[in-house]
Amino acid sequence: MTRRVELSGWGRWPRVLCTVASPARPEAVAPTLAALPSAIPRGLGRSYGDAALNAAGVISCRRLDRMIRFDPGTGLLEAEAGVTLDAVIAAFLPRGFFPAVTPGTRFVTIGGAIAADVHGKNHHRDGSFADHVAWFDLLCPDGELRRCSPQSNPELFRATPGAMGLTGTILTAAIRLRRVETGWIMQRTIVAPDLDAAIAAFEANLDATYSVAWIDCLAGGARRGRSLVYLGEHATRDDLPPARRARPFEIPHRRPRRVPLDAPAVALNRLTVGLFNAAYFRAGSRRSGPELVDWARYFHPLDSLLDWNRIYGRRGFAQYQCALPLATAREGLSALLGAIAASGLGSFLAVLKRFGPGAPDRPLSFPIEGYTLALDFPVSAAALRLMDRLDAITREAGGRLYLAKDSRMTPETLKAGYGPALDRFRALRAAQEGPGRMTSALAQRLGL
Ligand SMILES: Cc1cc2nc3c(=O)[nH]c(=O)nc-3n(C[C@H](O)[C@H](O)[C@H](O)COP(=O)(O)OP(=O)(O)OC[C@H]3O[C@@H](n4cnc5c(N)ncnc54)[C@H](O)[C@@H]3O)c2cc1C
Repeated sequence: MTRRVELSGWGRWPRVLCTVASPARPEAVAPTLAALPSAIPRGLGRSYGDAALNAAGVISCRRLDRMIRFDPGTGLLEAEAGVTLDAVIAAFLPRGFFPAVTPGTRFVTIGGAIAADVHGKNHHRDGSFADHVAWFDLLCPDGELRRCSPQSNPELFRATPGAMGLTGTILTAAIRLRRVETGWIMQRTIVAPDLDAAIAAFEANLDATYSVAWIDCLAGGARRGRSLVYLGEHATRDDLPPARRARPFEIPHRRPRRVPLDAPAVALNRLTVGLFNAAYFRAGSRRSGPELVDWARYFHPLDSLLDWNRIYGRRGFAQYQCALPLATAREGLSALLGAIAASGLGSFLAVLKRFGPGAPDRPLSFPIEGYTLALDFPVSAAALRLMDRLDAITREAGGRLYLAKDSRMTPETLKAGYGPALDRFRALRAAQEGPGRMTSALAQRLGL
């Protein structure tokens, strides 16, 4: 059974009227796929743009939400693709396990996390999500279900992470969780007055398990790139105050709040964002010494505000996330920040991370060794023009954009960023064609 539903990504732009099927069991996906002219799988729709949209067919994986097996000796969890990281944490943190890699929201599915090969604040140490996947079962466009692992169908095992659902539908997967002693993170804040200081802080702390910076994208002149760099380590039981040691996984309960309505378009402007950024930087600058922060606040601060995407107003927003190679990152970031500050269009959610070596054998996996900058722009003609300028700077620096965040890049920018790997991916896709054709609005826009 299918429904016609208007869908979007997290940015709420673009919106597409889609035919949506929601199979309840993995065995039901193949017949569902065969009945649609084309399809793309969808998890929780937390990718920002058009990756999980396809007018002719969307396979919602939300009902594939069963956990199958867990081995506490190895931390290996087998689960259906629609299981969320939220559910994984709820079930396994009390037993001392946490996802090895988590993006900035826990409301993502395992299928979506593999398809985007998501990264966390520990990419420089632990790589991306697919580095912790032992195998997955992929329903391919020819209708065959293939077990993909380093030994079995290795080409598909490598091509699927980053491929945004285009190689097939992941039905089940085995992911490795990491052991933790508590649900707390020992956080240290480094105040970086400019971009050079921020980069120096990342480089001096490559052995920190987690690192991420909030960056003031509107600060200009000598303060360009001023940041608060947050370092984190999983706290041990001994790090906790005595009163918490008996229940080390229990964290304060916060009732999530909801944004009740779309903010008016004028709410976010240079003045309001500039004031917010200055106040946030001042408050962060007063922090000193290590502090204990619970896992939810450290990894997923935005999840406490449900529907926060409504603060950008009815027209929606686009996220710009690029990765720049180490050698050109400083110049490139400085040019990007200069263009953003001059435009006055930046958002208060601007994030900088250090990537470790990427995975060149995964053709469309986003991370490359260097720096990644992510920030949001409410959709407007001026913001779209600015992002075109940012593309030119990213390309000049030899960088690339993240497909999971994208809603507007051109095929030329994709080609410049991913190079010959893109041709390899297209050849694999062409060889894969079958009656269950996989495509999406993103694939059509970019000729993937
Ligand atoms: C607040 C916020 C913070 C974020 N922070 C980060 C971050 O720090 N790092 C990062 O890397 N990403 C981050 N993201 C992006 C997010 O992690 C990815 O877009 C992720 O793919 C979303 O998962 P999903 O289940 O919602 O998938 P969807 O958005 O529904 O789909 C994403 C892609 O996965 C494919 N897909 C979904 N299920 C399957 C399946 N079963 N088989 C095959 N393909 C499938 C879809 O076709 C689509 O191409 C963030 C997003 C938000 C909203």
